Amino acid sequence: MHNGKLFIETVGCQMNVLDSELVVAALRNQGYSLTDQIGEADTILFNTCSVREHAEQKIYSSLGRIKYSKRNRPEQVIGVIGCMAQKDQEKIFQRAPHVDIIVGTGQLGEIPRLVDEARATRKRTVAVSLDRKEGSRSEVAQSFESYDPLRDPEMRPSPWQAYTRIMFGCDKFCTYCVVPMTRGPEQSRPVADIVREVQSLANQGVREVTLLGQTVNSYKHTADGKLSRMSDLLVAIHDTPGIQRIKFVTNFPKDMGDDLLQAMRDLPKVARYLHVPLQHGCNEVLKRMKRGYTVEDYRDMMHRIRETLPDCAVSSDYIVGFCGETEEAFQKSVETVREFRFKNSFIFKYSSRPGTKADEMWKDDIPEDVKRRRNNELLEVQNQICEETNAEFIGRRVEVLVEGPSKWTNKGMTRNDGRAAEDANLAYPMPGVVGGVSDKGQGTSDKGGGAEQLAFTHLLPFTTHHSHDHDHDHDDGGSCNTDAIVPLDLSLNPQPSTLHDSAPLALDARTSPLGPSAGPIQLVGRTTCDRIVVFEGNPRLAGTLAHIEVTDCTQTTLLGEIVTQQIQHGSFPGLPILA
Ligand code: SAM
Ligand code: SF4
Repeated sequence: MHNGKLFIETVGCQMNVLDSELVVAALRNQGYSLTDQIGEADTILFNTCSVREHAEQKIYSSLGRIKYSKRNRPEQVIGVIGCMAQKDQEKIFQRAPHVDIIVGTGQLGEIPRLVDEARATRKRTVAVSLDRKEGSRSEVAQSFESYDPLRDPEMRPSPWQAYTRIMFGCDKFCTYCVVPMTRGPEQSRPVADIVREVQSLANQGVREVTLLGQTVNSYKHTADGKLSRMSDLLVAIHDTPGIQRIKFVTNFPKDMGDDLLQAMRDLPKVARYLHVPLQHGCNEVLKRMKRGYTVEDYRDMMHRIRETLPDCAVSSDYIVGFCGETEEAFQKSVETVREFRFKNSFIFKYSSRPGTKADEMWKDDIPEDVKRRRNNELLEVQNQICEETNAEFIGRRVEVLVEGPSKWTNKGMTRNDGRAAEDANLAYPMPGVVGGVSDKGQGTSDKGGGAEQLAFTHLLPFTTHHSHDHDHDHDDGGSCNTDAIVPLDLSLNPQPSTLHDSAPLALDARTSPLGPSAGPIQLVGRTTCDRIVVFEGNPRLAGTLAHIEVTDCTQTTLLGEIVTQQIQHGSFPGLPILA
């Protein structure tokens, strides 16, 4: 008899975070409960990422640590699921013979059954989709079963925020990227399914929904002879009662249609924020990456964005050290960061991935120290721009969706804590999602910004190596500049006992973690253009829109004060009323 305890570790992008939410929901439905102690779990799952080699190595290290755990737990089932499972399949058994099940991204719905079977038969199983070359496009697409059934409100970045997948897979085949292999052909979900899901998320208390797709602005779905594009989908979900903000990641530059920009302009709940990775500033490199656009095309797109949405923030991803990248080519990336003044950029050192065209055709010839130096140089230029553009907000009033206590608050830190300055200010302790620090310690992952931020953590049952909310793997050089803790001078420290990290999302943010009568604490929220704002306020503001006067800033964060009208309520210490 197994003990019903489940430990799950997640590496990768928002897609993986969402997949873990769904897998956990399915298993909890079968009576499982989460634990953050791997040693006490009879079911252990690793939801994996293959985008960079380092993410895979981390999983093998984690697997190595539990090599002998079945000696004490004969009922234990160990599963490797997600992208690495689809990519490496049986090969995982060679390196980790103690693994019982290998389940690809297209078979996640099978996990409850496969876990039961493995426990009953003690036979190893591989459940994966067809490789891209093993069948016609539609055969391969069918083998990637869509999986967005149950949702689990407790497994979210915060109770107010949820991801909704609108597309599966990718057909762009950028030469460096494994995603078309690990996630299969591009498929858009029907509008009606997405509308239903968003409505049900809103009924569960979600205020901000982030629509996910590898190239989300390429969304198209035809039903009853009617084609719906991303702009139509935004219209369809915009008026969902309860939803206050709609975001979508990640966009592909070539597919940025005017209809989408106009829809964003006309729909007030849609965030003024676009993550549109440029990847490189040199046309010759972009061509070898097979991105399908030039820097001039990208510039044209930026002009169209600025014309239609003058207040829209744009962020990017860059790869440094791609095969054959000369110093001159790299400097062109630097020039584009200067020219486009991105809100932030996620910067990755190129990692050669078996099965990709780049790996087949070119040598990974840029030495590691050169990649690192270029990474840091680009990051420095971006950081300078962040500081300048953040400073433009000082003195302005912004509207933020309050996510809840800052991470600093959640950690029970005081401003004198040494770690505070380098720690993420990300809001709710998403079950297992914690910002990771880059190899240089300069950037931490951004919980909302990009397609794929990675961070490795072992704090909570739902352990995520999370790279955005645009998720990026900082441990292998992916670095960004999107969050930092802000040592505000708080007069009131939170009670650490209620806020410690290992609470398994016990933090039900629908109620204040500090209790209903708690006084002001450091809260964090985001503007519609995805800027992080930290301010002092009553925890009950979580999940609401608040107006903040920006008084100061750091490279990563705006600091402000809540705009209040004071009410006279006898002795009550003054819950701010939003102006
Ligand atoms: N679909 C998104 C797009 O095209 O912008 C990106 C998805 S990818 C999972 C996230 C980011 O990882 C990419 O934007 C790219 O910068 C980075 N990336 C992908 N493959 C990589 C590789 N082999 N080495 C380094 N970075 C890589
Ligand atoms: Fe697709 Fe993005 Fe990978 Fe290109 S980088 S293949 S668009 S997932």
